[in-house]
Amino acid sequence: MTEAFTVTSAAPLRDLNTLRIAAAARWLATVASPVALPEVLGRPEFDGLPLMVLGQGSNVLFAADFEGLVLRPAWSCVRIARDEGDAALVRAEAGLGWDALVDWTLAQGLAGLENLALIPGLVGAAPIQNIGAYGAEASEFITAVEAWDRRDSVVARLPRAECRFAYRDSAFKQDPDRWIVTAVEFRLPRSREPNLGYAGVREELEAMGLAQPTPAQVAQAVRRLRRRKLPDPALIGNAGSFFKNPVVPAARADVLAAAHPGLPVRRSATGECKLSAAWLIEACGLKGIREGDAGVSAQHALVLVNHGSASGAALLGLARRVADSVEQRFGVRLEPEPRIVGASF
Ligand SMILES: Cc1cc2nc3c(=O)[nH]c(=O)nc-3n(C[C@H](O)[C@H](O)[C@H](O)COP(=O)(O)OP(=O)(O)OC[C@H]3O[C@@H](n4cnc5c(N)ncnc54)[C@H](O)[C@@H]3O)c2cc1C
Repeated sequence: MTEAFTVTSAAPLRDLNTLRIAAAARWLATVASPVALPEVLGRPEFDGLPLMVLGQGSNVLFAADFEGLVLRPAWSCVRIARDEGDAALVRAEAGLGWDALVDWTLAQGLAGLENLALIPGLVGAAPIQNIGAYGAEASEFITAVEAWDRRDSVVARLPRAECRFAYRDSAFKQDPDRWIVTAVEFRLPRSREPNLGYAGVREELEAMGLAQPTPAQVAQAVRRLRRRKLPDPALIGNAGSFFKNPVVPAARADVLAAAHPGLPVRRSATGECKLSAAWLIEACGLKGIREGDAGVSAQHALVLVNHGSASGAALLGLARRVADSVEQRFGVRLEPEPRIVGASF
């Protein structure tokens, strides 16, 4: 991109979201540098319109057209901001691909992000829902997030404590109209004990014949596992896990586990328990069901899929029916993980 930004109107979004919903945006701006943000945001045609930032669209469901400005950050440098010997501070810009960052850090001999390999999306979206997989979360390694503050019209630098990271949650997710993440800073160690808390990762490494894996080998195992377990958005539209794993008090989890042997429960140090949403959905007999082109993946019950030309409204309707079935059977309400645009859940 040579210009600072490009703007189109009535922009089709089908190729810009992994669920492949054929929605449109009234305006679409692709911006090459955060320096151009004040000029873009100040254009008179955008005055008073809602704004949403779009990365790779791998965690959004467009339930309707977006009658406002969709802004795509396209700045994507990455560098070591400070070498501390046994660790390094890495600063990555919002438009860099997440998996490209994972690869880059591993190639620099830095550990930490290996369990998060192959998560789709851009770096700027990683803090929004504090991406996580296989027992790791991005927030473990984020030291600060730089973001354009639309309220005060300045670039702010939020240290980790101000980001209010939680399970698939952050200050940015809570206040989407305020923040445009411009860069993320990570502190990554040069070596560490691999995080092998997940049986699936351990088994994959065993199958690969690796008893003492390097971080790059853990990433390789995670990639193999993900390619096998998750439907590929290049082949079938999806947004990964559609529902968060419900978190319930221990007493409630005990009652459910006693009534439903086999229900996977992960206990945290704080006494709360995470239930497997995939198991709950499968137990309702919903894995693989299809209503027109909207479906529940036959490969993974937590993933909703677009078999072809499902509308966002049809997928949302199916998601609500899945959540209703789980609630009726188990008394637990599932919450969606992706941002739902143009409707509430
Ligand atoms: C096959 C598949 C597997 C997945 N697996 C995982 C997984 O294991 N773990 C996990 O946590 N997620 C997973 N996801 C979800 C998704 O990959 C992540 O949430 C990712 O971070 C989304 O990145 P994106 O660039 O596509 O963001 P988008 O989908 O474009 O946006 C997501 C949200 O973040 C906001 N946003 C994006 N960029 C910015 C920015 N720069 N500033 C402010 N707001 C912004 C958007 O407005 C929106 O609300 C998966 C998705 C798919 C399709």
